[in-house]
Amino acid sequence: MSSMLSDRVMDWAALEDTHSSGTYVKRDVQIVRGQGATLEDAEGRRYIDCVGGQGAANLGHGHPAVLEAIRAQSAELITCPELFHNPVRARYQAALCEAAGMARVYLCNSGAEAVEAALKAARLATGRDGFVATMRGFHGRTLGALSFTWERHYREPVGPLLMSTVTHVPFNNVERLAAALNDTIAAVIVEVVQGEGGVHPAEAGYLRAVQDLCRANGSLLIVDEIQTGFGRTGTLFAYEQDGIAPDVLCLAKSMAGGLPVGAALLAETVPALPPASHGSTFGGNPLACAAGLAVLDVLQNTDLIERARTRGEAVRDHLRANLPGSVARDVRGRGLMIGIELRGRVAPVLSALQARGVLALPAGKTVLRLLPPLVITDDELWQAVDTVEETLSDAAE
Ligand SMILES: *Cc1c(COP(=O)(O)O)cnc(C)c1O
Repeated sequence: MSSMLSDRVMDWAALEDTHSSGTYVKRDVQIVRGQGATLEDAEGRRYIDCVGGQGAANLGHGHPAVLEAIRAQSAELITCPELFHNPVRARYQAALCEAAGMARVYLCNSGAEAVEAALKAARLATGRDGFVATMRGFHGRTLGALSFTWERHYREPVGPLLMSTVTHVPFNNVERLAAALNDTIAAVIVEVVQGEGGVHPAEAGYLRAVQDLCRANGSLLIVDEIQTGFGRTGTLFAYEQDGIAPDVLCLAKSMAGGLPVGAALLAETVPALPPASHGSTFGGNPLACAAGLAVLDVLQNTDLIERARTRGEAVRDHLRANLPGSVARDVRGRGLMIGIELRGRVAPVLSALQARGVLALPAGKTVLRLLPPLVITDDELWQAVDTVEETLSDAAE
């Protein structure tokens, strides 16, 4: 009896804060379960999820195809280092390469690791050590990936960084990139829509120009689709809309229905990595590969990606027409990756949305970012949009 009581009144949030490293600043809510685009807290309150696992939940929560893949594979074999061949990994690597039009894939467990692998691949392929990244770009938090991440608050407290050979140029500026390229540059790394940096899409023609400059300079083009991949922007990969073919493609987040998986894919023109030049114990584990196969299958055989395109456009058009100019400066994005640039800080808006049953993300201090699962129903989506509109209209008064 007493243990039941203490379980009920236990302050899990305080317990979590006591033992957590301290790096994460948490919101005042305990999420305990999810279904589709709905999340539920410990008190049974429901929320429309526009956080989407920070980009990891494109298929939503509890997707039956993902659950079944995990269930079946976990009974078969969960771990199998790449010392051995494994048929599930073989099928997943082939399916992923075919979907992305790439030749090879290195599997890992997170976005930052995918970026690290891409950087190594570029140095090994070119024999050069320099890199160009973009201002406001975000590529992860390991010391290597962090060197490419623009925002100072991520970098300065933990400097000096390992990479002294990274130049940052303004995003969507072809001339500044051209000026930064020379025969020391192994690769240029770029997002298709800058996510953490404020939801800034590449302008028409920009990535084509980046690709042409890279080719002329003998540098690789690394495209970071960790946030934009897997249908988020209305195509399986966002770069398809820009008519380019990356040399290296970084993926993670929604690859495997929320399991921790990342990948660096190499084009036919990029040499395979030399034996033993890189590796990861968990990389390519059969559980992740089975979930990844299920995700690709769902995305390729349903209308979720097309829905992301049409619903995203409709939401942006609606918000542009209806948000008061006194609170919103701009509405941007592609597909169901939506950014609303506010005139003030986003933090109070996030709290007000949470109180009204919508969980959303910031992207920097002034941008409200919506990354709903692609399985969100039209009712849920428009309810979330109405709530955003009401909240911002109240803020305008
Ligand atoms: C989230 C993200 C990363 C880092 O991924 P982690 O899994 O958090 O290491 C890298 N690049 C982009 C574009 C991202 O959105």
